[in-house]
Amino acid sequence: MNEFLPFSRPSIDEATIAGVAETLRSGWITSGPKVQEFERQLSEYFGGRFVRTFNSGTCTMEIALRIAGIGQGDEVITTPISWVATANVILEVGATPVFADVDPVTRNIDLDEVEVAITPRTKAIIPVYLAGKPVDMDHLYKIAARHKLRVIEDAAQAIGSTWQGKPIGSFGDFVSFSFQANKNITTSEGGCLVLNNAEEAALAEKYRLQGVTRSGYDGIEVDVLGGKFNMTDIAAAIGLGQFAQLNVFTAQRRKLARHYFDTLGEVFEIQTGAQLPPADFENTNWHLFQVVLPERINRADFMAHMKDKNIGIGYHYAPIHLFKLYRALGFKEGMFPIAERIGRQIVSLPMFAAMSESDVERTCVAMCEVLKN
Ligand SMILES: *Cc1c(COP(=O)(O)O)cnc(C)c1O
Repeated sequence: MNEFLPFSRPSIDEATIAGVAETLRSGWITSGPKVQEFERQLSEYFGGRFVRTFNSGTCTMEIALRIAGIGQGDEVITTPISWVATANVILEVGATPVFADVDPVTRNIDLDEVEVAITPRTKAIIPVYLAGKPVDMDHLYKIAARHKLRVIEDAAQAIGSTWQGKPIGSFGDFVSFSFQANKNITTSEGGCLVLNNAEEAALAEKYRLQGVTRSGYDGIEVDVLGGKFNMTDIAAAIGLGQFAQLNVFTAQRRKLARHYFDTLGEVFEIQTGAQLPPADFENTNWHLFQVVLPERINRADFMAHMKDKNIGIGYHYAPIHLFKLYRALGFKEGMFPIAERIGRQIVSLPMFAAMSESDVERTCVAMCEVLKN
């Protein structure tokens, strides 16, 4: 039997391991020169925009909301199909999450539904680029401009994705990325936020470290309530090693995604009733390769049968509005039917840069077998 194929696995090369070892030996292991260098390289990649790093891709969004002055009484519109962090940060700052249903093809927030959900209290939109696929960015920013809304892009999965040739993050309002272990590039845990100007960047620095501003040799002041969200140099050393490989990783993921389509062939959807992702080789970084199973298939059984064939299947995501915490706020079944159907039947097939085309073929054979029975 083939060895176990997980749905995701980080690729850490020897140069990165050496970079981490060098940092550990350097005498400086918390935020320092590696963080500065990582932020400099990220900023260059994002066209010179301001970038600050953090210890997660969750606090990046919370901090963006705080910088935008969003809190009690404000509504923020987001998608039910995301990691729960996306909506939790809205609650964390005291604001009210408002969901808009998703598009059945892209599985991303439906921008027409966003417009319907806007009220006089709406202050921001948090779109999510599921699997790394951006929404229609022109449409998104037209809505934001028309209704004077801030945008906090949850681009946690979208490093390396593009829109009309420009990297996601190189334009727009706040753009938040995650470097958690399963993301296309990782720092083990971490994230970064792209900001609009020096004022926002200075505020981000305060929010990430107890609200502190330092000056001279011994000057210290605290004027906002910040937390403890800074990235360590150990994490940044991993990030530098990973970032150097971003284009290679993205190209490999696109190649693997294409191989999924080629291997499954045009009849796959008709024969099985399963739904493939949009075949986007322009913009998507193929963070995930997600299939929506037909209703006749029980997802847990599917995952168990694939496990029997030594293939790991992921599940991204359960609809956020149906979690107890959100039901307690009044959300219930039937409110976002497309998100609920996708949330019930979606699976993530193995997809990571170190995978081979034969891993793709093995997964396709196993999946077709399981779907036939
Ligand atoms: C990973 C992820 C997050 C959270 O990032 P962390 O770094 O784990 O805090 C938020 N939103 C989406 C869509 C994600 O995939």
